[in-house]
Amino acid sequence: MWCIRQTDTRQNAAMPQQMDLASLKWWRFDAYEIRAGYIRPALGAKLMDYNPWIEYNKNRTPSDQSPRRVPYHSLLELVSTLFAQPRLTNDGEKLLLDWCVRHGLLGVLLQRTSFLTLAARWVPLPKIPGLKRIGPKSSKGLVASYTQVARSNTGWREDWSLIGEFGISKSEWAKRKEGRPLSLGAMKELGVVPSVHLQELDHFKWGNEPLGKTWARFFPDVPSSEAETYDYPLPSTPEFWRQYAEPVESFLGAARILYNSYKELEAAKHFHEPSELERILIRQGWDRLNALLSAVSPALHVRNDWTFEQVWVPASLLGAYAMMLLTDLDEQAPILRCLVCGTIFTSISPKAKYCSTKCRRTQQKRANRERKKK
Ligand SMILES: [Zn+2]
Repeated sequence: MWCIRQTDTRQNAAMPQQMDLASLKWWRFDAYEIRAGYIRPALGAKLMDYNPWIEYNKNRTPSDQSPRRVPYHSLLELVSTLFAQPRLTNDGEKLLLDWCVRHGLLGVLLQRTSFLTLAARWVPLPKIPGLKRIGPKSSKGLVASYTQVARSNTGWREDWSLIGEFGISKSEWAKRKEGRPLSLGAMKELGVVPSVHLQELDHFKWGNEPLGKTWARFFPDVPSSEAETYDYPLPSTPEFWRQYAEPVESFLGAARILYNSYKELEAAKHFHEPSELERILIRQGWDRLNALLSAVSPALHVRNDWTFEQVWVPASLLGAYAMMLLTDLDEQAPILRCLVCGTIFTSISPKAKYCSTKCRRTQQKRANRERKKK
């Protein structure tokens, strides 16, 4: 429901969508806690979805020179406050949790994942016309099946495959029980390896690894003995969010990548030839931001009135924020800090110094007082 073209965004935000892209939504709980190093929903917390692009597009017109506050600015402020302290204090934790209540988790795992294969397990024989029996007569209506999940430009796609009788040993058949995974040895023989394809957050490096290594770290309630074979919920579903948690260090590390890319790209100034050091910084920021943007894809969206529009679908909130930063950079709207209150904002006005009329007036009053003293 969002669009990076600036022209008709107000109209879009107000219009209900017929072919709504679920992936433009993000999820948040109304309460979070930090437990054993994880940011996770508090007990009994309520899950809700929202669209961060509505806030981004609010009051946004191409020629408007007034200061703009957009959702990713609050993350940049959070990072600069928390990293100004040597360690995460109680006050810091409170700031972090308050931020999550307003915006949700960053979705670090979803930002990194492109494809995963879940463990094969015994499931009831699906009702497919003509498919009467897979496996021996004694299969009790159970069949071995595995699920693969891929990220697409319109959300996460699930695909499951049945495993026929051939290749499954008698001992494995004997252990069949609804929901039980096949043993890792049996899966290996069948060529089904529970694994995930991940990208590094801030550079272009990919790798395939077992679910127990990185993936399982985001599901603290899954026993370590089941890390490879657990029946993980489909990404970005309500069930997924109830089980997913973000290690504090993963959240802060990811937020810092966005923060660093913005700081590094700041070295580029209009009408100014960058020094050698500035060039290195710009190159680093360019690399980091593009790595985050590689999890954002274009998609076709059909509006309510059957006209078409181009939308950009991010894999995570972090990806959405990278896209918002890109849009601001594309508009040559620098990220500024208010001289009075320190709030981060953007403006396309070359003279902008304050985040709001209130701060501009505060500054005027201060200046007047100074003059009177003299
Ligand atoms: Zn201010």
